[in-house]
Amino acid sequence: MKIRTRFAPSPTGLLHIGNARAALFNYLFARHHGGEFVLRIEDTDRERSTQHAVDVIFDGLKWMGLDWDGEPVFQASRQDRHAEVVAQLMEKGMAYRCYCTPEELAAMREKARAEKRPPRYDGTWRDRDPSEAPEGVPYAIRLRAPKEGETIIRDHVQGEVRVANAEMDDLILLRSDGTPTYLLAVVVDDHDMGITHVMRGDDHLTNTFRQAMIYRAMGWDLPEFAHLPLIHGPDGAKLSKRHGAQSVVDFREEGILPEALCNYLLRLGWGHGDAEVLDREEQIRLFDMDGIGRSPSRMDYVKLSHLN
Ligand code: GLU
Repeated sequence: MKIRTRFAPSPTGLLHIGNARAALFNYLFARHHGGEFVLRIEDTDRERSTQHAVDVIFDGLKWMGLDWDGEPVFQASRQDRHAEVVAQLMEKGMAYRCYCTPEELAAMREKARAEKRPPRYDGTWRDRDPSEAPEGVPYAIRLRAPKEGETIIRDHVQGEVRVANAEMDDLILLRSDGTPTYLLAVVVDDHDMGITHVMRGDDHLTNTFRQAMIYRAMGWDLPEFAHLPLIHGPDGAKLSKRHGAQSVVDFREEGILPEALCNYLLRLGWGHGDAEVLDREEQIRLFDMDGIGRSPSRMDYVKLSHLN
């Protein structure tokens, strides 16, 4: 099997250092196995995506020496394909139209809050006869998610993680304005692009259960997953603006060399022997998923100008 990994950033801000590390790991894993590393720009959020952020991503990856294979794929250009998959799910009876109004959905959230449980769609339209549908009311399309059993993910970093399907609700695939949700778009694109391994931040772990449900409904094989623990600041809190350096541009402006940054990011969350400095060739030769650590990494670098 030819290994194919991807980096799939949303162009809504800076190239965060956690994302840059995910890009590095995906790149090294693909190159180590003689596979391919592709780039997908997840620009479906039209309001928050900017051309400037796209340029920052291209620029940052080139600066780090992470060359991708082929042309980058822009997710927004694939909306017809996303809708086509939803139509197939409808035909299979694996998806249904939900006519709930924003007020009804707000009432469900309110009820959950009062009962001190996470908000969940109550399945109003799951079994309702479509002929009861009100006229002229816009509808979303939801996945008919399994209610019995468990969804299990065998993750290369997190081990076996599972959730009871009864805990999950019927996620939205297409919004009432016809646009695909992030969960749907990621699954369709990863499938169509032949992605074999998905390495990304562990803030996406809960999404993975829902994505697995879409894969199964389509009868597609799941890729392998590795969810990387996040990078924390020197104080142990999630890395943010307050810590000074949090994006590739921050490091670059400090005069840090790309080789140093890549070496640092690699050692932060991946262990191999005692070597402190590995050049790119050695990184490619040695990198594999086995060495990825399970606990959050703590960055000990503080932006110099931040100390003044
Ligand atoms: N676009 C998502 C993000 O930037 C990543 C999605 C993924 O890697 O599956 O957080």
